[in-house]
Amino acid sequence: MTGILVVLAGVVGLVIGSFLNVVVWRVPRGESVVHPPSACPRCGHAIRSRDNVPVVSWLVLRGRCRDCGNPISARYPLVEAGTGVLFALTAWFTGPSWVLPALLYLAAISVALALIDLETHRLPDAIVLPSYGVALALLALASWNPGGEADWTALGRALIGGVAMFLVYFLLVLVYPRGMGFGDVKLAGVLGLYLGWFGWGALAIGWFSAFLLGGIFSLALVVLGRAGRKSGIPFGPWMLLGAAVGIVAGEPVWSWYLSIM
Ligand SMILES: [Zn+2]
Repeated sequence: MTGILVVLAGVVGLVIGSFLNVVVWRVPRGESVVHPPSACPRCGHAIRSRDNVPVVSWLVLRGRCRDCGNPISARYPLVEAGTGVLFALTAWFTGPSWVLPALLYLAAISVALALIDLETHRLPDAIVLPSYGVALALLALASWNPGGEADWTALGRALIGGVAMFLVYFLLVLVYPRGMGFGDVKLAGVLGLYLGWFGWGALAIGWFSAFLLGGIFSLALVVLGRAGRKSGIPFGPWMLLGAAVGIVAGEPVWSWYLSIM
């Protein structure tokens, strides 16, 4: 059962990845993600549906536009393949569970937000703000757990986690405005919903991991003598990575930490 689910999630991930390429390009530019249909940025020729198959089309066309022959960035198939792998891993992690839709949604916005933040140093409201509603609805579905036993305390924890993460990041921005921005604060609330749903350990580890991973990376840059650019690395990708660590490993790591204290 899980095997079929993993393959299915992987295929859905490829298609979603293709859509995320459009999101990453258009949302920061304030353009619609549904209209007009995708076109070659060089010659403007609309992309035929048979050339719009994730990964495969890029390989068949050998990374070139069918109409003008200009190269198409390898980033497009990489984002598609990466999203496919991420979706498959997510399904493997949850197995057949009602929390899977919520996590797939998180995986999708994580890919888009990380890429947009790396490129533009922004986390667009157009993605982050609706995510509060979508995440709450999908986490409520997970708590309801149709066909099984409901767990409404998890949803209560999610609400507390969302508010707590938002407030902690809000204070951090007030204290150290150069470190991060209000976009990070808004994203923190969404991630807090997820981490809280999984447990207090997930919330603690997910919060801490972002700073740990981001800190190690900054330190590595200093050691390698490449920290010259003070423009800074955006913090969003670390928050997303930290949340993933919190969800996957937060509960066991937290129990272990409490046991050695
Ligand atoms: Zn072209």
